[in-house]
Amino acid sequence: MKTAEILNKEKLTREDLLYLMNTEDPKDLNLIYEKAYEIKEKEVGKKVFYRGLIEFSNNCIKDCNYCGIRRSSGNVERFFMDKKDILESARWIYENNYGSLVLQSGERQDEEFILFVEDVIKEIKELSGGKLGITLSLGEQNRETYKRWFDAGAHRYLLRVETSNKELYKKMHPQDGKHNFENRIICLKELRNIGFQVGTGVMIGLPGQSTEDLVEDLLFYEKLDVDMIGMGPYIISDETPMGEEYRDKVMSKEKRVSLGLKMIALSRIYLKDINIAATTALQGLDPLGREKGLKAGANVLMPITTKDEYRAKYQLYNDKPCIDDTADQCKGCLAGRVKSVGDEIAYGEWGDSPHFFKRK
Ligand code: SAM
Ligand code: SF4
Repeated sequence: MKTAEILNKEKLTREDLLYLMNTEDPKDLNLIYEKAYEIKEKEVGKKVFYRGLIEFSNNCIKDCNYCGIRRSSGNVERFFMDKKDILESARWIYENNYGSLVLQSGERQDEEFILFVEDVIKEIKELSGGKLGITLSLGEQNRETYKRWFDAGAHRYLLRVETSNKELYKKMHPQDGKHNFENRIICLKELRNIGFQVGTGVMIGLPGQSTEDLVEDLLFYEKLDVDMIGMGPYIISDETPMGEEYRDKVMSKEKRVSLGLKMIALSRIYLKDINIAATTALQGLDPLGREKGLKAGANVLMPITTKDEYRAKYQLYNDKPCIDDTADQCKGCLAGRVKSVGDEIAYGEWGDSPHFFKRK
């Protein structure tokens, strides 16, 4: 009864969000998902936007304690796709009418890398006659770099804050002066000022993370006035410091999936007109994770379009799904998944966040 009452409110309070976040009763959970889907339909439609994901390099200068491709990981075969391979993937994305792509990699801040990305953005724009939307997920950079990439033609940027709890953030990163919560916030603000549509997100089910923390994450999204959210469950990566410490202590898969879905639903209910992705990590823990994400209010999917030979080398966590599939297989598989939910794929559209245009 209380759940229904809260869901009827125009604006939820912190206490309301916490109540819903702690809800476990299946009937109440259904009410939450139904409400989120209703708001999705009203605010962004029953459409799913695709962003073809090109994970073009696993070289990284950072050492995040949870990530399988962190700098210190000795067991990773490092790769850097050449321009020809990246453009080939971009052409596949364009010809398959995906509308947008995401360029993602480990973090690098050297001029050779910055220039490479700048050129790739320009060439993708050229090969698609300006039609492909370009999102970047290339970590922390300075304002000048972000501006160069924006001027080259990228228009959306994803930079997860990982958690809005500063103490937890500290525990998840080495204290070497290079992994700094405050700098991430500065980056997110620079991106906004430059004109990017800005996305952030957190990992869910982190060791030491409470449901209060997750509610604070939702309030953080609001405070930052984000346009897009990409978040998913934390998954153990064996050879990392957190993987070693928490292998047998991390919360169950079911619990992490359930919290992940609640985070999607409450983001939709609370923030309404933003873009929300159902991420691969959700499917990593539950074969139906992405469909459930769409049902809980997500409206973006990021099918992996990384060339086959590189997929298995971009292993952020154990048992990453889809690494043995080709881009064509992923396309067919996802189309079926979207249909099963009752949504429609918005082929060829950029699918920008309505929230961004309302602010302007
Ligand atoms: N290097 C860039 C950055 O960190 O923003 C982009 C690539 S990074 C691999 C993309 C995201 O992967 C990170 O923001 C993090 O949330 C996620 N990730 C890394 N390790 C993970 C893990 N073990 N479980 C779930 N997500 C993970
Ligand atoms: Fe590098 Fe990103 Fe992984 Fe951190 S999360 S180690 S920055 S790839």
